[in-house]
Amino acid sequence: MMSIRQNALKTPDVVLCALVCLAGVAVTFLVLILFIGSEQRTVSVAFQLEVDERFSRLQRRFNTQVLKLDVVRRFFINADDVTEKEFLGFVTPLAGEDEAYGWVPRILEKDLKAFRAKTLLKGTSVFSYHEINPVTAERVPLSSRPEHWILLYLLKRDDVKIMPGMDILARPSHQALMSKARDTRQIVVSEPLKMTNGQSGVFFVAPVFKTPPEAQLNNDDLQGFVVSSVRLASMMEQGIPLPSLQRLNVTLSLIDRQQQGENIYQSLAPAVPSALYEQRLLKVADQNYLMQFRPSSTFMLANSYTLSISLIVVFGAGLSLLLTLMVYLLITQRARALSLVDERTQDLRMLNITDHLTGVYNRRYFEELMEHLLIEANAQYRPLSLIMFDVDHFKQINDRWGHQRGDNVLKSLCTRIDSATRKTDLLCRTGGEEFALICPDSELIDTRLLAEKLRTLINTLPFDEIGQATCSFGVATWIPSESFDAFIRRADTAMYSAKAKGRDQVQLADR
Ligand code: GH3
Ligand code: MG
Ligand code: MG
Repeated sequence: MMSIRQNALKTPDVVLCALVCLAGVAVTFLVLILFIGSEQRTVSVAFQLEVDERFSRLQRRFNTQVLKLDVVRRFFINADDVTEKEFLGFVTPLAGEDEAYGWVPRILEKDLKAFRAKTLLKGTSVFSYHEINPVTAERVPLSSRPEHWILLYLLKRDDVKIMPGMDILARPSHQALMSKARDTRQIVVSEPLKMTNGQSGVFFVAPVFKTPPEAQLNNDDLQGFVVSSVRLASMMEQGIPLPSLQRLNVTLSLIDRQQQGENIYQSLAPAVPSALYEQRLLKVADQNYLMQFRPSSTFMLANSYTLSISLIVVFGAGLSLLLTLMVYLLITQRARALSLVDERTQDLRMLNITDHLTGVYNRRYFEELMEHLLIEANAQYRPLSLIMFDVDHFKQINDRWGHQRGDNVLKSLCTRIDSATRKTDLLCRTGGEEFALICPDSELIDTRLLAEKLRTLINTLPFDEIGQATCSFGVATWIPSESFDAFIRRADTAMYSAKAKGRDQVQLADR
């Protein structure tokens, strides 16, 4: 009889939960996008700062190299007949690690002999004229040419294999570089060359003229060259802290060769694929280099924000789930509360319409039911019958067995009748020991048979504690358009007629 509200989630509730979850995911996603954007900017700024710092350091270092050579050149312009001791005393404090300095005077062929004698007289260490065969790379005697560029003094910082007395004019690459220095009267820098120790390095060459710079250029005024060489790798790496070295991938290339991807220097830290990239133009004397910077895995790791991303994702997902769970709980709690209210309402309704002793419908509901059924029967031309019955001599039962046992008889009576009737028949207690059985869709004859059946059911089986009891029955079928009161009265009259005719019988109402 009670309809219990289902606790299962309904479609709108499921949609609401899904929306809350989606909203959580969307907010997480938004936060993630904003976070990644800001982190990318931060990393990009960090990269640029690192590159700027490194580039300005390298630019300073190359400039210093040029400046130092210029200082040595001025020394030679201003001093006459510099001895080896003086030379070494001057350049030693200037020279850094992996740097070499040399003095290369220009000597005419006719002066070779006198120059050697003078040099040896001055106490210059091991000295013998020679040149290097460009093909065999062997030391050979000096060839005859109008003038010679003889390496005289040398401050070497590593295992440089050149010996004093070598004519540099016999080495085409050096000769070209030095000619350029003489022609431009400027300090020039070589393309990276393989040095005698096998490593890549650059040479700086400064021409030494005795005439003031503003005077007309005269090749005969060339006294010689001061040269310096430095290992490229130490130029690029020396003095830079290891962590900083490991963070950046640096390559150096000559501007015109850059298209062919020919790097003259490549730092140890390999580049990782990344959108981060910077390039700078490095100007050293007459040479332009392209310096390219890319992040290494160390840089990417130090600036990684994947942990933060995972945290945001986990936190966002957790929060979304929590929100969804809370909404789900609210919905189910509300549904449960509503169902409880429903149950209580049903209970109250049942209390209101049933008789508390027997559990069958009470008089008030009987009247309500009849009103409703009469309207239905009237509209649909369906038969409606009524059996009114009353326990015979119930007062005597009470008197003899007590009120409590009388109550039990009323309860057992209702149980018996309920078990013998259809679901659609409605049993009501209309008075103390008076009952009415409403039989919808039943004609008079069938209802009479039912009444007889009930009468037998009552009088043949003894009741607990008190033994046999009987009832008197009045049966009536509704006459179309008959009023409620008239219909009841006819059934009631039939029942009293059964009483009058000796009780324990069924009487049909008059039409
Ligand atoms: P009759 O055959 O003419 O119907 O005789 P009767 O004794 O049954 O009729 P009467 O109207 O004289 O008595 C009805 C009695 O039913 C009176 C009352 O005490 C008793 N009664 C009414 N309601 C209850 C009830 O709820 N429990 C019990 N135990 N007795 C009730
Ligand atoms: Mg009675
Ligand atoms: Mg009575």
